[in-house]
Amino acid sequence: MTRAFNFNAGPAAIPLEVLKQAQEQFVDYQGAGMSIMEMSHRSKMYEAVNDKSQSLLRELFGIPENYDVLLLQGGASTQFALLPMNLLQPGKPGAYVMTGAWADKALKEAKLVGETVVSASTEADKFMRMPTLSEIEIPGNASYLHLTSNETIGGTQFKEFPETGDVPLIADMSSDILSKPVDVSKFGVIYAGAQKNLGPSGVTLVIIRKDLVENGSKSIPAMFRYSTHAKSGSLYNTPPSFSVYMMNLVLEWIKNKGGVAQLDQINQSKTKLIYDTIDQSGGFYIGCAQPQSRSLMNITFRIQNEELEGLFVKESEKEGFVGLKGHRDVGGLRASTYNAVPLESCQALQQFMVDFQKRNG
Ligand SMILES: *Cc1c(COP(=O)(O)O)cnc(C)c1O
Repeated sequence: MTRAFNFNAGPAAIPLEVLKQAQEQFVDYQGAGMSIMEMSHRSKMYEAVNDKSQSLLRELFGIPENYDVLLLQGGASTQFALLPMNLLQPGKPGAYVMTGAWADKALKEAKLVGETVVSASTEADKFMRMPTLSEIEIPGNASYLHLTSNETIGGTQFKEFPETGDVPLIADMSSDILSKPVDVSKFGVIYAGAQKNLGPSGVTLVIIRKDLVENGSKSIPAMFRYSTHAKSGSLYNTPPSFSVYMMNLVLEWIKNKGGVAQLDQINQSKTKLIYDTIDQSGGFYIGCAQPQSRSLMNITFRIQNEELEGLFVKESEKEGFVGLKGHRDVGGLRASTYNAVPLESCQALQQFMVDFQKRNG
């Protein structure tokens, strides 16, 4: 079996060890005579998986006691709407930091629900950087401040987060959750779809401070209220059991790797290989994001000549690389180097980039 060098942006690479473990347990989960997908979500066995996922998340990400950990469906895109539906109060705008495609989608949904304000925008720089903390203006009466910690399409990432005082800080961490240590206590809500750093698609993680759950809107349907899911331990209705099970295996894998701080170190050395190759190419490769905002998860770059970009993608595919074409909205090239992308894949990409330049530079 040959595994691809998988640089997909999402759904993305899952650790081979995890896939093999799931394969072993696929038909008969722990002697139950059935797979995890076939059993009741009210069974002891599934409850253990559900509980374990939540406790591992708490342990690995350092989530304090005064937060709920919710495992929901609908992807991060559903959270763009549920957040304002639960937390946006009349006369108190939702403040948004505009940093690119995902921030824009979050803002558009909030506008459907209530009043919003843009707290900072890097559009003038074509979203090729994150704002500095001093650029972010937070209205004193804001319901919350929302930011996108890592812009998956543009390839930019916040390196530090603003102090927001009494205004809850909300982050879409879909593409960098558990890739590095974060002080969760600075946030009111952190949410993320699982399919980049946590496993397969189908489950969405919401980490939310308990007072925000309690004060959330009571006039929206039960399925949309955070309090519904918090009260029932994320078992209000049928959960995405297979996705939660897979996430559980990924969390165990992270633990065995030494935890999030250890992954951060590995992620830094992985991306350094690629960014160094770009910077040392004498202008053949051009990094898109401004250096201080470069993402450790999505490396966006170009070659001056668009024809060569096409050739790069084509030749890379022949050599076993997958997912290096940039997002359809921005073009260029992108390598997504999430937690599960092994160092070896990045070493192979570095070698391919150097060779490609030798042939075409
Ligand atoms: C992928 C992604 C989303 C969308 O996630 P879905 O689960 O597909 O809804 C939202 N925000 C960011 C930053 C993403 O990378």
